[in-house]
Amino acid sequence: MTVTFQPPENIPLSHILPSEPLLLMGAGPVPIPHAVAQANSVVINHLGETMGKVIDRVKIMAKYAFQTRSDKIMGVAGPSSAAMEMGITNLLWPGRKALILENGTFSQRMGIMAKAVGADISILESKLARPISADMVRQAFSKDAFDVVTVAQGETSCGVWNRELPEILTVCKENDALTIVDAVCTLSTMPMEMDNWNADVVMTGGQKGISTIPGVSLIAFSEKAWDTIEKRTVVKPHWCLDALAAFEFWGHHQYHYTAPVPGILAMHEALRLICKETLEERFFRHELSSLALQDGIETMGLKLFVPSEYRLNSVVAIEIPEGIDAKRVRKNMAERFHVEISGAFGLNIVRIGQMGEQCRSHNLFKTLYAMGMSFQQEGCCLNVSEGMAAMEKRLSEDPNRYVT
Ligand SMILES: *Cc1c(COP(=O)(O)O)cnc(C)c1O
Repeated sequence: MTVTFQPPENIPLSHILPSEPLLLMGAGPVPIPHAVAQANSVVINHLGETMGKVIDRVKIMAKYAFQTRSDKIMGVAGPSSAAMEMGITNLLWPGRKALILENGTFSQRMGIMAKAVGADISILESKLARPISADMVRQAFSKDAFDVVTVAQGETSCGVWNRELPEILTVCKENDALTIVDAVCTLSTMPMEMDNWNADVVMTGGQKGISTIPGVSLIAFSEKAWDTIEKRTVVKPHWCLDALAAFEFWGHHQYHYTAPVPGILAMHEALRLICKETLEERFFRHELSSLALQDGIETMGLKLFVPSEYRLNSVVAIEIPEGIDAKRVRKNMAERFHVEISGAFGLNIVRIGQMGEQCRSHNLFKTLYAMGMSFQQEGCCLNVSEGMAAMEKRLSEDPNRYVT
């Protein structure tokens, strides 16, 4: 039997991957712990009894990570944006009104999705790289009513933290609006209390704070959000992302589609490590790591892009000094030091991720050194050793509580 086209050249993956893996210190994906990598190599029957036990454990541990009692918590096969789309497309339909709190690429994405399902959207935008305040939201409600409000806790694209999130969620609740919170880069790296803060939908991806592989995300719905979905009569635009259909698998171990088994096993391990560490310890590790790195960067002679009052610790944005080519700095870091950091979506910054495994002292030292040396190679006059010392000093402030 012959076919029309000839097979392409046989190139093993090992010829494509670098011989020395790059340390992923960008805005995601992040390095994964060994237990997560191992779990990711196993396939079992997605509907068997063993998988049922895994699913139950994933839900129990995810509830802790989300700080919720809600049983309507589940995994989504797909990027964080798929979980985002599940939240948006299940709660919005033609005629529903959504207020989109926008201060960067990811919060903007929720508006694009809301518009695509025919919702009537209003955009409340902050100035470049500034947070959305509760007052801005209060004012929007004084002029109009909304069924749904969307907001990102941390806007990864520019490194801004919407620190008034709890107050924003209260304003929305007072005005009887459901809230959808993007906690992709923040969940498990800083407080995000779904129940105490009255968030209705919270979602996160695997490859950021949670520190597992990309491709399996998590989403949780409040009772009120779930009730809205159950009462909905308008046909849903998605089959895979239909929350009620997905709950057949996540609530009743019944077939919806073939679950991404290795990704869910990997998520199990990532969540287990979070529970073992405890959220309090994890928040402490993230905050100290990021603040120490920020100290190091500034002491070295570089400027941070976002003022400290609303600077996001999960992703640190660094300004590029005049005349320096950021692309070459990043290339140099990758080639000479095997460290990769992120560029930006059109802004003149580079970004270092501080999520999950990125907040380990060996990764911090390697990254700061690589960045300092690479900026210097491009002609930027920095004091690398003082920067390294400042970071070390901050990290070892309390000898009993250090970052491993
Ligand atoms: C990374 C990120 C996303 C998008 O995640 P994907 O997995 O690429 O879909 C959304 N929101 C925030 C805040 C992010 O950091």
